[in-house]
Amino acid sequence: MNRKLATIRKVNEIKPIEGADMIELATVDGWQCVVKKGEFKPGDLGVYFEIDSFLPLEERYEFLRKSSYKKIPDQLQGQRDEGFRLRTVKLRGQISQGLILPLASFPELKSSPLGSVGSDVTEPLNVELYEPPVPACLSGQVRGGLPGFLKKTDEERIQNLPQYFTIYENLPFECTEKIDGSSMSVYFTGNDQGVCSRNLNLLEDDVNTLWKITNQLELHKLLKELNRNIALQGEVAGEGVQKNPLKIRGQFFFLFNIWDIEKRQHLTPEERMEVFHFFEKRVPMKHVPIVSPSIKVFEVYKTMPELLEFAAGPSLLNKDVQREGIVCKALEVIGNEIISFKVISNKYLLQHDA
Ligand code: AMP
Ligand code: MN
Repeated sequence: MNRKLATIRKVNEIKPIEGADMIELATVDGWQCVVKKGEFKPGDLGVYFEIDSFLPLEERYEFLRKSSYKKIPDQLQGQRDEGFRLRTVKLRGQISQGLILPLASFPELKSSPLGSVGSDVTEPLNVELYEPPVPACLSGQVRGGLPGFLKKTDEERIQNLPQYFTIYENLPFECTEKIDGSSMSVYFTGNDQGVCSRNLNLLEDDVNTLWKITNQLELHKLLKELNRNIALQGEVAGEGVQKNPLKIRGQFFFLFNIWDIEKRQHLTPEERMEVFHFFEKRVPMKHVPIVSPSIKVFEVYKTMPELLEFAAGPSLLNKDVQREGIVCKALEVIGNEIISFKVISNKYLLQHDA
């Protein structure tokens, strides 16, 4: 499923910004976003564009040119090579994320059934995801798409799940540090084995970083020994990966999830740790740092600002840099799945989201 970058949403709250005459602060679900004064009142509908949206060059977005125009050299065919890129900014001391515009700016949505709360209007408005290019050492030669028996690594942002604060108040979670690298899944199914990036199954070769790490750690051999049809999912980080924000020497795999191919379900954090220990005893495999092994997140952090504050802090891998945030995973299975979400540090976004 593609990310819903543009949706119709209701403005929950409007607050003044001290010392500002022209702008004020709107709350949209768990997001806060600066708007022109008087443009919205609580309850009004608008089109909300999340951060990482890449908007087409259209007249109605021209006011963003100075702050958000972006051109991508050597863009892959079929993808936008210039547009307006939305990111996290600070205006008059206030964090502003994404953009909300009045429905009236989008006459094309008016007469269609799309004009109601919750509608995903990413496609009709031709909004794309802004994605920094993946370096060649990580992408490699393609064997095929992500196999259907795997689950794409992904986490929803807590700002889009404000209901969790009430429905999961009593649920304990494991919180791990979120690492800003590149996703990798190593699987074994009895008669097949492979290595995948977030979206692709990769052919084995000796230049691809993901295969190199897999072979160095002998992950397929150990999976066979363990004799379970699972996929180890983790983040590769270090030199040459993204901009190596953690400033790590070398390249490492940090396990964050294990997918049970037969059950079509993630292992619980406890089950994952058991499998991790099997590997850790045999090869130098790493796990994402544990910020808290068990915490009733929504009992301790009752509001979005409190939880966002908790997500920020120094990395447990390098105390000199800020962590990207945290990922929380429920300790128990609820209705065949392990509830999880990410909380990205605004401090980190303001430093890196340039
Ligand atoms: P994003 O990087 O914003 O797309 O967030 C989701 C991705 O975070 C996942 O697909 C993983 O590749 C990555 N990730 C990094 N650290 C963790 C972690 N501790 N738990 C789960 N996912 C993680
Ligand atoms: Mn990431």
